[in-house]
Amino acid sequence: MSTDEFRRFGHELIDFISDYFERIEDMPVLSQINPGDLKAQLPSSAPRRGEPMAKIIADVDRLIVPALTHWSHPSFFAYFATSTSAPGIFGELLSAAFDNKAMLWRTSPASTELEEVVLDWLRQMMGLDAGYSGIIYDTASVSSMHAIAAAREGVERRIREEGMSGRTDLPLLRVYVSEQHSSIEKGVITLGLGQRGLRKIPTDAEFRMKAQALAEAIEEDKGQGMVPFCVVATVGTTSTSSIDPVKEIVPICEKHVMWLHVDAAYAGSAAVVPELRYILDGCERADSVAVNPHKWLFTPFDLSVLYCRHMDLLQRAFSLVPEYLRTPEQERVRNGSDYGIQLGRRFRALKLWMIIRYFGHQGLASRIREHCRLAKLFTSWVEESPDWELMAPVPLSLVCFRACPQVDAVDEGSRNARWDALNEEVMHAVNRTGKAFLSHTRLNDKLTLRLSIGNIRTAERHVRQVWELLNQQLSQLR
Ligand code: PLP
Repeated sequence: MSTDEFRRFGHELIDFISDYFERIEDMPVLSQINPGDLKAQLPSSAPRRGEPMAKIIADVDRLIVPALTHWSHPSFFAYFATSTSAPGIFGELLSAAFDNKAMLWRTSPASTELEEVVLDWLRQMMGLDAGYSGIIYDTASVSSMHAIAAAREGVERRIREEGMSGRTDLPLLRVYVSEQHSSIEKGVITLGLGQRGLRKIPTDAEFRMKAQALAEAIEEDKGQGMVPFCVVATVGTTSTSSIDPVKEIVPICEKHVMWLHVDAAYAGSAAVVPELRYILDGCERADSVAVNPHKWLFTPFDLSVLYCRHMDLLQRAFSLVPEYLRTPEQERVRNGSDYGIQLGRRFRALKLWMIIRYFGHQGLASRIREHCRLAKLFTSWVEESPDWELMAPVPLSLVCFRACPQVDAVDEGSRNARWDALNEEVMHAVNRTGKAFLSHTRLNDKLTLRLSIGNIRTAERHVRQVWELLNQQLSQLR
């Protein structure tokens, strides 16, 4: 493609994206296509000859856009609502153009050094101490897996060299996490620790890990000859955004010389708001913290950060330098591939740098603060209505609630079964309208709706609209 053509299509694409954002509210949030609909419209093999760019862009509009669930829609309230932002899109565009593979400092000095600088900015914005050093991965699942791998390296059982299978000298190594968590389990499986290597700790009435139960579990496991080596505390659980009592967990980890990893994938971004900084209290004595700017810092997917105090252990767990990667400056610089499973690494720091510069610390904090205000407003409507009830505390911008209208039922069990079915129907009915998208969870064995506010375009009118929709659907279905 000539640079003239590139320029022309580049302008067209920016126009296309601008139009997309302008008309996004007219599109259904949740894609309304059926499974297989898109595949049926696509050829089953690749074109033999190249096709005109104009035709490809037209097909994006005709085929791809209707098959999108619009995460950038301001009425996307499902899972953890997230969004891209203009500076983030520009950062991605530049990163694709530069196409650096930041495995070694010399393969991308810009990426390597910008990553160190921008993660240090973010660390300061989050109020984490200078003992933490940051590194970027794709997702929190992967960040946390690397933290557990570093923790395991610190156990000094020669696992890097000898592995874990077929060994009679290796007791069961154990990681602890609250029963509210799921992605840690995949990391534990991937690291070969096995599901038996993870013990799930019960939570209290507010879905927070019970520190006392953790202490007892560790003692019990030690009594049986196991090696407890890592605790994962969650600040902002996926289901309810509950915040584990990190300050109470710290002394337990210190007593048993265990690694404390804090998974703050969603909630960590809120620490940039001064009055919400308390959510990371205790992290000054943790070993690592994971936070996802791609969740609540307006960063296009993907970008997850692991802050770690022991980069030496992370490096020991993963560094492997074949001759062709040896460089004269390697003792003086950070080579990204030494700290993880990947060799090549994307230039992700660029978009985060552009986002932080464009919004500034204050701009980011004010948007997150507004999301929390909107969540509190929605909470107040739930609390004031006899037809709805709150199912969990709302520390940040996620509201867990359900419809609980008067129903004829012989006992509590059948009433709850009616409410479960009703809530599920209400959720699907709202989602079918295309005007909003909500997801659900199960709390205390009750189907619970979740309203997550995290999109940069979400304003009060969108929250009011989903509340009206919920009430309309409820009155039709009850
Ligand atoms: N940890 C927590 C607390 C989460 O809420 C999530 C996702 O919502 C994850 C981990 C997984 O995030 P990722 O998709 O970045 O792996």
